[in-house]
Amino acid sequence: MTDRIFNFSAGPAVLPEPVLKKAQEAIWNVAGSGIGIMEHSHRGKVFDRIRDQAEQNCRELAGISNDYTILFLQGGASLQFSMVPMNLLPADRTADFLVTGVWSQKAVKEVKVLGRKVHVAATGEASNFDRIPTTGEIKYSDRPAYVHLTTNNTIYGTQWAVEPAVPAGVPLVADTSSDMYSRPIDVSKYGLIYAGAQKNLGPAGVVLVIIRNELLEVGPKDLPTMLQYRTHAGEQSLYNTPPTFGIYVMGEVFNWIKAQGGLGAMAEHNGSKAALLYDYLDASDFFRAVAQPGSRSLMNVCFRGPTEELENKFISEATKRGLDGLKGHRNAGGMRASIYNACPRAAVESLVAFMKEFERANRGAAVRA
Ligand SMILES: *Cc1c(COP(=O)(O)O)cnc(C)c1O
Repeated sequence: MTDRIFNFSAGPAVLPEPVLKKAQEAIWNVAGSGIGIMEHSHRGKVFDRIRDQAEQNCRELAGISNDYTILFLQGGASLQFSMVPMNLLPADRTADFLVTGVWSQKAVKEVKVLGRKVHVAATGEASNFDRIPTTGEIKYSDRPAYVHLTTNNTIYGTQWAVEPAVPAGVPLVADTSSDMYSRPIDVSKYGLIYAGAQKNLGPAGVVLVIIRNELLEVGPKDLPTMLQYRTHAGEQSLYNTPPTFGIYVMGEVFNWIKAQGGLGAMAEHNGSKAALLYDYLDASDFFRAVAQPGSRSLMNVCFRGPTEELENKFISEATKRGLDGLKGHRNAGGMRASIYNACPRAAVESLVAFMKEFERANRGAAVRA
């Protein structure tokens, strides 16, 4: 595909090309209906099938049991920062947070906006979030209503390798926006999982929520209707007009993951892409990885160059080579290569080849600096 370049954007991010091709057709005429996906009533049979199939594929990929309800909502992961405590955190209880970056901090902030109690059970702030807390560093409060974690830290490039242990009977709530379905996930360990689609699952505008059925009814009934999980669960995400196009694309992304061999195959593909980059970074004395070994994200690889000037030069020359979206988040600086599920191995190979070339050409400038 010569008309597309390699896109390392953190989100919205690269989507699988076969999905884009299929979506192009579906915008015109979906499932032979003579009507495009964006033009169908959300109350019709055609969309019903699309929604049901998306849910079924979602369940199949991670073996999600009927003890869980799958919702397709709006408002992004950011609305879940509020909706989770509104529904799951009574005024006399505390929510425990594992703070591993900006997104966890924002989730904490929204609990405080509601006037509810937060306990920070661990935070990586002291080392600028360059690693995931160790088990010994986590101190839970007495009987928290839930424990919240961010599985992958999109901005600082760290990722939980495995879920932390939580006190018995306490629901684990996870923001999995930037690594959902990048590897196998045991949903039965969680009370609630939420993921904005635009990193690994589809277009912006839809957020996937997987919630254990027993948590659907714990929220107060005097919340605004749209902010109660029970509203959406009772109507199969069709209480109001859902983001129909986003749900369609997400369903096709699930299909694509299945065709690749499922979540195990995704993990292998992602692990080998990330290893290409980290191995080079560890061997280089020009570039260096930011995240500490053991905490490194397979989705967002953050790295630095010798000077800010050389970093800017690197980013601008890379862009000219068709390697786009490599500038780090403004909070972190440096560079970030987001290499989600749909990022082909060839993109990472091209990036590493260019980094080697840039290193050779600019080593002298680095030594002088
Ligand atoms: C991008 C991101 C968010 C914010 O998602 P929105 O859909 O923009 O609200 C939240 N959490 C994580 C981990 C993210 O990567």
